Amino acid sequence: MSVRVLAPGSTLGMLGGGQLGRMFALAARQRGYHVMVFGDPVDSPAGQVSDRSLPAAFDDQDALLSFARQVDVVSYEQENIPVPTVEFLTQHVPVYPGAELLRASQHRLLEKNSLRNIGIPTADFASIQSAAELREAVALFGGDAILKTVTLGYDGKGQARVLSTDDLEAVWKKFAVTEAILEKIVDFSFELSIVASRFSDGTCAFYAPVRNNHVNHILDLSVSPALEIPQKFCHEAMEIARAILEHFQVIGVLCVELFATKDGSLLVNEIAPRPHNSGHLTIDACRSSQFEQQFRAVCGLASGNVEMQAPAAMANLLGDHLMNATADRWKTVFQLPQVHVHMYGKAEARIGRKMGHLTALGSTVQEAERLVKNARDFLQGL
Ligand code: AMP
Repeated sequence: MSVRVLAPGSTLGMLGGGQLGRMFALAARQRGYHVMVFGDPVDSPAGQVSDRSLPAAFDDQDALLSFARQVDVVSYEQENIPVPTVEFLTQHVPVYPGAELLRASQHRLLEKNSLRNIGIPTADFASIQSAAELREAVALFGGDAILKTVTLGYDGKGQARVLSTDDLEAVWKKFAVTEAILEKIVDFSFELSIVASRFSDGTCAFYAPVRNNHVNHILDLSVSPALEIPQKFCHEAMEIARAILEHFQVIGVLCVELFATKDGSLLVNEIAPRPHNSGHLTIDACRSSQFEQQFRAVCGLASGNVEMQAPAAMANLLGDHLMNATADRWKTVFQLPQVHVHMYGKAEARIGRKMGHLTALGSTVQEAERLVKNARDFLQGL
């Protein structure tokens, strides 16, 4: 696919105004590109650091047309952008990565079927459309499984662990959907992810895989290079990401989240069609961050340098972590030479809301992990 080369001074459109759009805008504007956000208020995390915002609904075709006329290319920062929005825009301006990857990553069944079709292993799963199907599939998966909504699930939302001893009629009723996906529980030893990018000439670039810890289904900590991840897994994760990038002919960045099972295999959990929370450490640890890779790809440029310059660890800052973050505590954290503060400009700190993150670089990955955890504990007053 030939992508028009866009020079500094061009305007890049971003669907969505969250923190991923913000970090994209910061990276692009540092290189002299303009950024225009669609779909969120002017003071959204991305809007605050962009040239312009167009706060309209994603199905407002007049607004989309006006947006398309003002930008040279479009990307997106979250996977819940309606596919018809991307299809409509594509008639007027290039949108990368395109609608197909977005469609697959919005629908867990479609996503898992697409992965299976290209030979990529996932957890065993079944489509569920009734309580009877749920009962049958839970039994098939050994009496212990996870029921997930097929759309709009993230950070553990729309999910329930189900056992064959549960009242499955009641579970199904509570889900209140016509279709869901049931997944067999994966007995994993750890979770990992790989952020990868693909460019107009078909070349791909891969960051080192990251080991991820979740708390309450929300990403808590990411470290890289992770000592737990053997070379074999790094290579396999890269080949999985390459197969997905090539299958969907991606121009841009994606993240593949994986389970490393106790019996030594990798299973894909899900695909994010954009930069990912687990790739935030690339901002400080790599010369070209995942956001720089995103704007390079959509501007028809070549990959930047994605090598890790130092072992790194990233800790998310949720609203809960910031309840006791006094100015004095912030002052101390800003004094830590190996710790980098990233805040997303969100006014209201709510429990579970991603407000920012800290990244620490260390001479070893253990040191980086210790530094970032200590800094976050200190902010919390622990
Ligand atoms: P998801 O929203 O699908 O990314 O799931 C959120 C988290 O739930 C994952 O990061 C895992 O920790 C856990 N999880 C999801 N699916 C499974 C599964 N099939 N087996 C075990 N744990 C899972």
